[in-house]
Amino acid sequence: MTTRMTNQRIKILNYLKSVDNHPNAEAVYDNVVKELPQITLATVYRNLNLLAEQGEILRLEIGSEYRYDARVGFHQHLICKKCKKIIDIFQKNIPEDTIKKIKNKEFTTESVIVVFYGYCKKCGE
Ligand SMILES: [Zn+2]
Ligand SMILES: [Zn+2]
Repeated sequence: MTTRMTNQRIKILNYLKSVDNHPNAEAVYDNVVKELPQITLATVYRNLNLLAEQGEILRLEIGSEYRYDARVGFHQHLICKKCKKIIDIFQKNIPEDTIKKIKNKEFTTESVIVVFYGYCKKCGE
């Protein structure tokens, strides 16, 4: 059982690492089920959440859904409001350290996800 869980988790992680489109859990399921026919959507959700808790992947909350990202190094996201496409960008002039120092009396920042909303080239035309 433990071995199978680990195997499923590795397959899920490997799939996420092979794409850069920040899929949701359903899209991850649709792909890993080809290799793991017995896997369920609930199992995929559980493993994605576990991977996110362990810091192996990022979980982005976009509107009402979660999107997953195996790129855990600090980067920023451009999100199309129309087609929900997510594009990674790497702005060196947005340093993670500076943002992490932002806190107030009631709050200490632990992690940062930077998101810019707009329209992709296709949707903006
Ligand atoms: Zn778009
Ligand atoms: Zn990303």
